[in-house]
Amino acid sequence: MNMRVGSGFDVHAFGPGNVVMLGGVPVPWERGVVAHSDGDVLLHALTDALLGAAGLGDIGQHFPDTDPRWRGAASVQFVEHAVRLLAEAGWRVVNADLTLLAEAPRVNPVRARIVESVARCLGVTSQQVNLKATTTEKLGFLGRAEGLAAQAVVLIARS
Ligand code: MG
Repeated sequence: MNMRVGSGFDVHAFGPGNVVMLGGVPVPWERGVVAHSDGDVLLHALTDALLGAAGLGDIGQHFPDTDPRWRGAASVQFVEHAVRLLAEAGWRVVNADLTLLAEAPRVNPVRARIVESVARCLGVTSQQVNLKATTTEKLGFLGRAEGLAAQAVVLIARS
């Protein structure tokens, strides 16, 4: 079996608002994020991991933030588009492991919903998706809660 791995990373600054999109799930919080799209760091990192695994470049090449088509776009579309590109090349997702780096909002109350949402975008089962969360011990821009970041690792395979 032919297998490849990909990784992704994304950051967004907090800004005006009261909802943060995490893995396609709107999570109420005291701030929103500054972004051209819906600013979903988990799905942006995941999209880059998918594209990276398949050798298809990065999210900026496929969804330029200068393109009005993607203004306010639901990031679910980015992941689904990447999955389609992979499928066209014969790839399927084996598993995805996501890490949210943030002081807030807290992930525990919404973890299961995020995992389900991410799995749905990827067209896989919840057992193939893992979500971890960590703070940075109050250090740096994440520790000062100026924004949030996400990392993603994806394994893909084809016969
Ligand atoms: Mg982003």
